[in-house]
Amino acid sequence: MQSEFLIIGGGAVGLTSAQALLRSGYKVTLLERGTTGQEASWAGGGIMSPLCSWDYAESVTRLTQRSMGMFDDAMASLHAATGIDPEYLKSGMLLLPPCKNELATQWCTDHQVQLQAVLLNDYLPGLQGDGLLMPDIGQVRNPRLLAALRQHVTMLGGVILEHHEVQQFEMTGDRVTGLQTSQGRLCADNYIVAAGAWSRTLLGEHALSLDVRPIRGQILLFKLDTPPFRQILLQGNLYFIPRLDGHVLVGSTLEDVGFDKSTTAEARINLLQRVYALFPDWPAPVKHWAGLRPGSTDNIPTIGRHPALSNLYANCGHFRYGVTMSLACTELLLNEIENRPQPLNTDEYRWL
Ligand SMILES: Cc1cc2nc3c(=O)[nH]c(=O)nc-3n(C[C@H](O)[C@H](O)[C@H](O)COP(=O)(O)OP(=O)(O)OC[C@H]3O[C@@H](n4cnc5c(N)ncnc54)[C@H](O)[C@@H]3O)c2cc1C
Repeated sequence: MQSEFLIIGGGAVGLTSAQALLRSGYKVTLLERGTTGQEASWAGGGIMSPLCSWDYAESVTRLTQRSMGMFDDAMASLHAATGIDPEYLKSGMLLLPPCKNELATQWCTDHQVQLQAVLLNDYLPGLQGDGLLMPDIGQVRNPRLLAALRQHVTMLGGVILEHHEVQQFEMTGDRVTGLQTSQGRLCADNYIVAAGAWSRTLLGEHALSLDVRPIRGQILLFKLDTPPFRQILLQGNLYFIPRLDGHVLVGSTLEDVGFDKSTTAEARINLLQRVYALFPDWPAPVKHWAGLRPGSTDNIPTIGRHPALSNLYANCGHFRYGVTMSLACTELLLNEIENRPQPLNTDEYRWL
């Protein structure tokens, strides 16, 4: 039976889109070039928030805030349905100085987000001075989230075709009529591009204004018996994410180097210097990896229908916050597909 939707890309965004469409009763097939959940969505830190929300445009805040409000229920039901715990945890985020205290306080007041001035020593023994705590910020363990989403999509009746690389779009008039893949031709009524950093390249001339390019991020992983803190720590642009089992992720870099996913000695040294400046007795990292974020101007994704091709949609370009934004973006996509009113202003996410 022909699918109503073919989704290209098996990252957090493609899997979440598949999940939502299946729940709405559509027949969905997801095409993934490699295996699902191995690219940016796997490589990310899983912080469920922008690092410093006050540094971002309202169009980013609208998506992240709406999505963050959906995560409690979504993660509980995903865990219950699949038996896979995504380790969604409201660990909070502790901001070390220097912070933009006035700006942060004003932004949190305006957006009704909890923010507390704290003594750092109460959270990180030995560290003197004042900090800011955002107690409601959560985190998720990306590989677990992706495994749970993959399983849920299958349980809901979705078809996942791995090792199917989409190579070309076939068009007739104002419609996409099929996809050429590495395993042959496939067609459906509708098509969704959720191919992360590769979305623009994949679409070629049909990308039009789609603003997506790869931005590499590198992360170091440490393993401690007991990390000396329970909150996510943020110092400038450096973050530490403590997991429940003693692993701590430290990242990340922002590098405009094209489709190059290699790790570099330079980034490793730079991150290590900053880690050991704070925690001189930490051991060597146990792992170092890189991923390609779907970079977009100002972190604003493209969500919705192609301006000229009536059965082609995008859900891509989420840059630094694709896991955080995934639920809200998928909600907006589904509303557009079903011609329902949107819960927020979507002008800036349109595909032009
Ligand atoms: C180091 C790092 C740290 C990050 N930290 C955070 C964080 O703390 N919080 C947060 O919210 N976000 C974070 N992010 C960003 C987040 O990971 C991304 O925004 C998000 O994962 C994008 O999801 P995606 O599904 O669009 O892309 P991806 O996960 O990259 O998935 C795209 C998929 O499309 C597939 N694909 C591509 N081309 C084709 C093709 N032609 N045919 C078939 N399949 C194809 C790819 O193989 C891939 O599996 C981080 C990213 C990095 C790299």
